[in-house]
Amino acid sequence: FNEKDQDLINLNTQAAEIFTHLLLNTDLSTEALKYLVETRKLDRATITEFQLGFLPSSWSLHDFFDEKKIPVEIQLASGIISQYDDGSFHDVFSNRIMFPLKDSYGNIVGFSGRTLDKANSAKYINSKETAVFKKSQLLYHFDVAKQAAKLSQHLILLEGYLDVIAAHKVGIDYGVASMGTSLTKDQLQLISRNSPTLTIAYDGDSAGQNATWRAIEEAKKFPHLQLEIVTIPDKKDPDEYLQAKGPAALKQIFEEDSTSINDFAFEYLKQNRNLENPANLSDYTNDLLKFLGSHSNPIANDLTLKKLSDQFGLSRSVLDQSLKQVTAPD
Ligand code: ATP
Ligand code: MN
Ligand code: MN
Ligand code: MN
Repeated sequence: FNEKDQDLINLNTQAAEIFTHLLLNTDLSTEALKYLVETRKLDRATITEFQLGFLPSSWSLHDFFDEKKIPVEIQLASGIISQYDDGSFHDVFSNRIMFPLKDSYGNIVGFSGRTLDKANSAKYINSKETAVFKKSQLLYHFDVAKQAAKLSQHLILLEGYLDVIAAHKVGIDYGVASMGTSLTKDQLQLISRNSPTLTIAYDGDSAGQNATWRAIEEAKKFPHLQLEIVTIPDKKDPDEYLQAKGPAALKQIFEEDSTSINDFAFEYLKQNRNLENPANLSDYTNDLLKFLGSHSNPIANDLTLKKLSDQFGLSRSVLDQSLKQVTAPD
């Protein structure tokens, strides 16, 4: 890091400390703490471990930084203080629960802030991109997860911060989150360099399942990365599933209920299709064959072709022939 980058990290680190202090030790955060403890079922130890915090609306982070003699240029460069057109300063994350975002080495490079009142504004907002914060190159909790992955040989990819924390609650520290964006090449590079296997466990709702499909398409470009898919039942996300079914159920899903990408594609591509209709069945089969042809795993593909043939009464030799045509170079 150069000096400027280090200034930003130092400022973020001080900010994170004060956010946690304000959340845990002051009566300015009563509502936020009650929300985290009672509604989201987080205890103080977990809050401390993940360095969660709160920025009360009655408090000014800008004034705090001024008192600490932090130059206003650095405050603005961090993206957590902003300036109105009239020149006055304001705190970007006012009245939000704060999640520090760290790089692979544990440096705090930015924040995500969650609103308490759902109706009014975006549920989460992030720090703007800075010299040290590039959202597409970062995975939430990766600094810890890469260590845990040495033992487990797995990373689990989740959608949200509280899903990572849910995994942690059931003893799984190799969870990371792509923070709602589509999975990038840079993120996949981080993953593949630190774990032989990636388990994708996005939200069980349709947005999460569509994101899973896109993530598989991207991850297939890393042929040495072994992929597994977990679908959370009842359209829930992992954190909601933990609240509904308890820790043993979530742990089981993560550790034992993963399926192959072929099995995921087999079900996913059925969506919005009436497979009793021959034209729909033919489209479905062609899409599935295209998927099978797009990666090379002959044994997995053999099992899927058998399932396809059995389930729909299709001729296995025709399927084999069609797969060859799909994969033939044109
Ligand atoms: P919570 O459990 O706190 O209600 P969530 O994590 O389940 O939130 P989702 O709507 O499933 O929220 O979104 C998944 C992730 O996408 C979030 O954790 C966050 O990283 C990101 N995200 C959601 N909404 C926004 C937004 N408006 N702007 C930026 N990122 C967002
Ligand atoms: Mn979602
Ligand atoms: Mn979610
Ligand atoms: Mn959630």
